[in-house]
Amino acid sequence: MKQLIYRPAHQTIEDLVPYQTGKPIEELAREMGLERIVKLASNENPRGPSPLAVEAATRAVAGMNRYPDGGGYHLRNALAERHNVAPELIVLGNGSNEILELLAQLLLGEGDRTLYAWPAFIVYRLATLAHGARGIEVPLDADLRHDLNNMADAVDDSVRMVFVANPNNPTGTYVGRDELEGFLDRLPDRVLPILDEAYCDYALHLEDYPDGIELLKEGRQVVVLRTFSKAHGLAGLRVGYAIVPEPLAELLNRVRQPFNVNSAAQEAALGSLGDEAYTEESIRINGEEMVRLEGALADLGLSTVPSAANFLLMDLAGRNGADVYQGLLERGVIVRQMAPYGMPGHLRVTIGMPEENDFFLDALEDVLNGEGM
Ligand code: PMP
Repeated sequence: MKQLIYRPAHQTIEDLVPYQTGKPIEELAREMGLERIVKLASNENPRGPSPLAVEAATRAVAGMNRYPDGGGYHLRNALAERHNVAPELIVLGNGSNEILELLAQLLLGEGDRTLYAWPAFIVYRLATLAHGARGIEVPLDADLRHDLNNMADAVDDSVRMVFVANPNNPTGTYVGRDELEGFLDRLPDRVLPILDEAYCDYALHLEDYPDGIELLKEGRQVVVLRTFSKAHGLAGLRVGYAIVPEPLAELLNRVRQPFNVNSAAQEAALGSLGDEAYTEESIRINGEEMVRLEGALADLGLSTVPSAANFLLMDLAGRNGADVYQGLLERGVIVRQMAPYGMPGHLRVTIGMPEENDFFLDALEDVLNGEGM
């Protein structure tokens, strides 16, 4: 009987391997006897949130006896103004991750399939399997970029939505406007394209980077996902949003829980939107440090994939990622292993603040020397 009670609603859940989150930094420091830990593992903004965001969230916390504004009135209006779209097109989420889940919940059923590149953000796979569907995973091309031709070729009658992470995680690569539009043109109407622009703040200055919101305004039926977790430095509060065609907003709001974005998160996001100079400076530092890290890694004999985001995927030149990861960990640096993405010879490192990057580079050099390579 017990087994019957606990049988997941979908057989696909049996194939779902949960997302691996790391240990708390303090616990790791204690366990490993380390004084300093530098975390470069989750593509967060290493500089921290804007002081205006902190102030706004602190004010909101004092009123935490009240439920948040379930309609996200002020934040949706501010975003509508920022992007010059109607507030009705904006759906807020507990991170953009929640919106991926809501889309899957709303649109997927048994026998349906989703389509995405591999490796790409692992939540596409998780959200798909959690809702009874299966993913078609199309390998990145030789340059670790989306192979949009192969992806379009892979569309069949079972495909309900396609995810394009632009820039992509874990590679940092992006697709240009012409190739993306050519791809969208090839998709049948029944396939919903989801443009996941979690890292767009780092890429919008690139001449051929396609701003999904512009595509939506030009009448394309796409979902654009954005987040406050990256350039805005609010990952811990969980706030993201989708800009979608209006009928879809109405549907998403049917399945969304009424108070999905907490009040501190809403206020912090508003505070951060009001401090553009701070965000721009974070993006500037990221760009500068990215170039410096790429150079320093090349000096260590490691190649990196050209990145339009806030992290670098490095090729360990034949070394085992698990070993280098462990060596870094023992020296107090946490990066991201790529074995779950099928790339055991790579590691992904988030661009940190200058002194964090120095700490990482020293540790890495030490690890590589220690191997006698
Ligand atoms: N999309 C991509 C490509 C990501 O890398 C991430 C976070 N790692 C997300 C979406 C989700 O971010 P959040 O839920 O914090 O908005």
